[in-house]
Amino acid sequence: MNELAQKDDFMHELAIAQQLIETACTALPDTGGAAVTALHVQLGALAGVSAEELRFGFGVVASATPLANARLEIEMVPAIVYCPHCATEYTVEPTAAFGCPVCHSMAVQVIQGKELLLKAIEIADEGQPAQAR
Ligand SMILES: [Zn+2]
Repeated sequence: MNELAQKDDFMHELAIAQQLIETACTALPDTGGAAVTALHVQLGALAGVSAEELRFGFGVVASATPLANARLEIEMVPAIVYCPHCATEYTVEPTAAFGCPVCHSMAVQVIQGKELLLKAIEIADEGQPAQAR
């Protein structure tokens, strides 16, 4: 049972990495053959994905794509919650309860922290060909 659950989790990370790579490949400008050196992503604290697992999944999926030699640069984004009841904005730990610390309302809105965004695609400078492997 446990093994199956872990496998499902891993498939989840793989699917996310796959999606990220497809987005990157679609967004890639005409680089004239320049190698992609890095993908910069923002990962929300509530995205349900750990940076470590995403990095691992990326390594697995990228190996068969033009991004095989690219680094994955992950910027963690804190979770920010807004309480409409008392108009308070606050950050929460992913593992903590989200209730408003001021009025203790549980009817709050997550306004940041669920995202997984591709921010930038870094390519090798022209005239500086990517290192051959
Ligand atoms: Zn409140």
